[in-house]
Parts: sequence; structure tokens; C-alpha cells
Amino acid sequence: MEERRNLTLPAILDARPEPRAEEETKPGNYFVSNYPPYSFWNAEDVKNAFVTFERPAAPGTPLGVYVHIPFCRKRCHFCYFKVYTDKNSSDVQNYLDSVAHELELYAKKPFLANRKPTFIYFGGGTPSYISSDQLGRLVERMKQLLPWDEAQEVAFECEPGTLTEGKLKVIKDIGVTRLSLGIENYDDEILKLNGRAHGSKQIDKAYELARALGFAQINIDLIAGMVGETEENWRECVAKTVALSPESVTIYQMEVPYNTTIFKEMRVNGREVAPVASWKTKRDWVNYAFGELEKAGYTVGSAYTAVKDPSKTKFLYRDLLWRGADMLGLGVASFSHVQGTHFQNEHEIDIYRQRVDNGELPILRALTPSSDDRLIRELVLQMKLGRVRSEYFTGKFGVDIKERFAPSIDKLQSDGYLIVEPDGLSLNREGLLQVDRLLPEFFRPEHRVARRV
Ligand code: SF4
Repeated sequence: MEERRNLTLPAILDARPEPRAEEETKPGNYFVSNYPPYSFWNAEDVKNAFVTFERPAAPGTPLGVYVHIPFCRKRCHFCYFKVYTDKNSSDVQNYLDSVAHELELYAKKPFLANRKPTFIYFGGGTPSYISSDQLGRLVERMKQLLPWDEAQEVAFECEPGTLTEGKLKVIKDIGVTRLSLGIENYDDEILKLNGRAHGSKQIDKAYELARALGFAQINIDLIAGMVGETEENWRECVAKTVALSPESVTIYQMEVPYNTTIFKEMRVNGREVAPVASWKTKRDWVNYAFGELEKAGYTVGSAYTAVKDPSKTKFLYRDLLWRGADMLGLGVASFSHVQGTHFQNEHEIDIYRQRVDNGELPILRALTPSSDDRLIRELVLQMKLGRVRSEYFTGKFGVDIKERFAPSIDKLQSDGYLIVEPDGLSLNREGLLQVDRLLPEFFRPEHRVARRV
């Protein structure tokens, strides 16, 4: 690690020669998180969302609630989310009051009548940034409006440096079953170079405390290919993760979206290639990590995750959402999917709060996809699990996916990534590791070149 001492992001951008390999990381979003792409969501369709709220839900449709906490201690250099690093405790409390008020506005709508959430997800930003008292009060108000007694999963994202024993106890007491630690890397220099707020000592302490409190599931998040990452360090990160033995490990490949500090620095330096490993190297690193985790008894369950015991370690937020569950997103900029309509809230905190405080639902843009678009959405999201079954799509959409997507399937098969099986389609490891690059092959032509944010 010695050679990285005292390096800064601008120094790295200055020093590293512009590479030529075709798979170098260029700016932009690569990750597919929904379909149709967000750039097609619009103000015109917001009225459709309001219509769905007045309609009772189809029996058996699972419901999830996502709570967005947009505060962080520091802005990471690779972050493209709208996060606030300058809010004081009363700003945070005002925001949480608006979140509770937003749920109150929804609570009496027919689409929520007699329903209880199956899963709750606290995401951000940094949910663990808020104080124990603030969290306790928010959850109490939420439970009064929408009881959680049938929730099978309550997931909570944490930044290790924000956790104390007292706060972890509150997180456990509100019913969190899946504690997700945003570790990303264990090396202090790399964490610093990428603008992370936490350091390695805080990781060790947070993990130890969480383990001692007996959370049912601890997930460790890592990023392959952060600025300054080396083969040797990556191997150390994987070894350390295996040694900690969490129930679940999630690994993302570093992307450099527009609007990140890294991209802004690249522009200043006139560079087109990001100062991070190539896509090929990042795939090799994830492949190595999956291999080591498999040797330790883990099972690879998606393009990004490995779990220790698939029979016990579920991730309902992912699995139900990818199968078309309703999910109500609360908070600034949060995304929802209700009865076939996608929508997103206002993405400026002041406007979000003002609208909620005026008694209005703070929806900014929406889209009601056609049945074919909903089919594509579920197919591409489920493909990230590595395997899709034809029967599911025939049963739900009345469509034979092998016929509907024949040209895309032929292409991915001849490129050596996809396997056609008697009962569905699967990706080999090579395909799974680059699934987000392959998925647009299933998109409608007008959506293939669209921005994904
Ligand atoms: S902790 Fe997460 S949300 Fe916050 S700045 Fe870093 S990447 Fe963005």
C-alpha cells in the first residue's frame, strides 16, 4: 500500500496515462435498475399514479415500503445520488416528519386498504446517519399508520462510522432482520481516496457489535474497482470478508456516472477514461471473489450476491420487487411501483417537504408501462439472478419468452453468454458478470440508447 500514501484523486488523474484498451471504464450509468429507463418517465403520467391509488389491490399482491434517508456524513467521490451532507438535527427531524406525513397521506387510499407490508427497506443516503431517537420516533409513527407485524424482512443500510452500540440496539429493536454494512473496501487509503467517511477501525467495531447483537442477517457491501484498487488489495478484501463470514455479500462493479466528483475531476483534466480498473479487470475481480466465497461454502445467487445459506438467507426486497410486487417509496426522490405504474418523488428536499406539508403527494414523474414493457422489466430484472423460467412468464403474461425474444436470445447465445434450457434461460458465469451490459439486448429499440437515470 506504500505507493498510494498521500495520493489524492486529482493527483491520480494527473499521473495515470490515458489507457487504450476497449473495455476501459468511461463515464455513464451501466447498472440497470428498472425498465423502461427513467428518462422516459414523465409529468403527464403522474395522473395514472393517482388513479391506481383509488383502486383496491389485486388479492395476493405483496407490498413493500421503501424509506429514503438522503443524508450522509460526506459525499463519496463516486456517488451520483442527491445526498445532503450539511443538514443539522432539526433539518433531519423536519424531513422525517414529512416522511411520516407522506405515509399518512397514503394510508387511507384504497390501494392500501387491509394491506400490511411484507418487506420494509431503509435506504439512502445513509439511514444510520439519523439518531436513535429520530429512528425510534419515525418507526413508531409508521407502524401506527401501517402495521409491520406481517413484515418478513426489514432491511437497513448502514455506514460503519455512524454506528454505536446504542444505535445498533435501536436498529435491532425496531425489527431489522437484514443489516447491510456499506464497507466497500477495508483499506484506509482506498477509502480515503474515494471520499468514504469511514475507516477500517470503524468497520471492525461495527461488525463486531452487529454480530454480538445477533442480527439475523448481516450483508457486507463491497465495490470492485474503486480508485486506487489493486489486485493484491482486492484479494485482501475478499479474504477479510470470508473471515468475517457474513450471511450475505454484495459486490458491485465500480461505475463512474456523470455528476460524480470523479467525473467532474476528469473533465478538469480533459480525460475520457475514469481512473479505475477496466470492466474486464472488475469482472475478473468479482469472479475471483465469487470463487473464494464458493470455496468457503457460499452460493452465488445473483450477478452481485453470494449467500452462506440460501435456504435461510432471503432478500425479499429484491426478489419480490423483481417479480412485480407493489413498493411504496417514501421520501425525497424515492421510486415506487404500484399496481403496474412507476413513479418517483420530487428530488429537491425543499420542494418535496413543501408539497407534503401542503397535503399533496409529492410525485414528480411517472410511467405506466404497457404489458410488454412490464414483461421486459421482469425478464431483465430476473435475468440478474442468472436464470429465468419460461413457465413464470407464460403464467403471468401469457407470453412464451423464447419466441418473444428469439433474436436477442440467438445473439446472446452465439456470443457465448446465454444457455437455452428446456424450461427457461440461464446465463453462464461470464454472462452473469456482465449482465447489465447484456440486458439492453432485451429492451425495445427506442429504449436501448436511452439514459438510465
Ligand atoms: S454513503 Fe452512499 S449515498 Fe452517501 S455519499 Fe456515499 S455512496 Fe452516496
